[in-house]
Amino acid sequence: MTIRLRGHHLLCLLGYRGMGYSDDFCVNMTAIYETLRQEPQTEIEIIIGPDDVCRAYPPDKAYHCEGAVYGLDEAVLSKLGLVAGIRESWQALCSRVAETMVPEDISRLCTTCPWEKYGVCAEGVGLVALGKPLPKAGA
Ligand code: SF4
Repeated sequence: MTIRLRGHHLLCLLGYRGMGYSDDFCVNMTAIYETLRQEPQTEIEIIIGPDDVCRAYPPDKAYHCEGAVYGLDEAVLSKLGLVAGIRESWQALCSRVAETMVPEDISRLCTTCPWEKYGVCAEGVGLVALGKPLPKAGA
């Protein structure tokens, strides 16, 4: 099984605690998050544009999976030393986060994201940086 992710969703997943744009979105996000949490050897393919998270974005909300968010994808990939097309395990990607990021990087990178203020993504980076496990989704 390979999960396809765009750049910034590598970090969103670290901060996923069950909040999201709709029930369907959360069902999909929880399935991805729990797969990665429980099977960290799962292969991730880095892609450009809408990915396996975006596919559950609610059709009745303003679409934001194209446009300005590509800049955030690029910034995150650059920070992690990644480019589109790379395939690595989730565990290896978390190791990159641990080597290259500190929690404060979230507020520097994610300046327009409505979820940033909750602090969960910075917390997720901190957990990974300390080699600690991510909590169960919704815990
Ligand atoms: S602050 Fe927003 S864009 Fe940044 S990692 Fe968290 S959810 Fe993703």
